[in-house]
Amino acid sequence: MFPLFAVLVAVGMAVFVATPLLARESAATSSLPVDVTPLSDLKRRRLVVYENLKDLEFEYQSGKLAAQDYQSLKQNYLGEAATLMAASQEAEQLKEIDALLEREVAARRASRKNRLPQDYVCPKCGFENPVPVKFCGECGTKIGPLSH
Ligand SMILES: [Zn+2]
Repeated sequence: MFPLFAVLVAVGMAVFVATPLLARESAATSSLPVDVTPLSDLKRRRLVVYENLKDLEFEYQSGKLAAQDYQSLKQNYLGEAATLMAASQEAEQLKEIDALLEREVAARRASRKNRLPQDYVCPKCGFENPVPVKFCGECGTKIGPLSH
């Protein structure tokens, strides 16, 4: 009885330890394509491009690079930076739209919550009837749209 229990605990621990590692690995591989990359990753990659540009500038200034190579490499980096910038802006907009939709849904949910009790609450005594009723269960007053 006891050894079996110990084995189960050991297996459970192994799974518990391994799961975050596996999850992290799959998250890293799934974030590779540009169009699904999170905003922070886009910013990080843009910073890398800017670092490369600075290095390129430095190498050119110190005479390690031909002017032609410098120009073409610079254009490559600038193009990459522009692409990443556009992707960031798109991601930013999507985030704003998400936030907007979330607020909309929340507002709608709140208004539904506010509207529902209209059929339940007695306007005279304020008693909250458990179901929509024509007459208040407490004082007998006619209630709302169901009364006609
Ligand atoms: Zn009432």
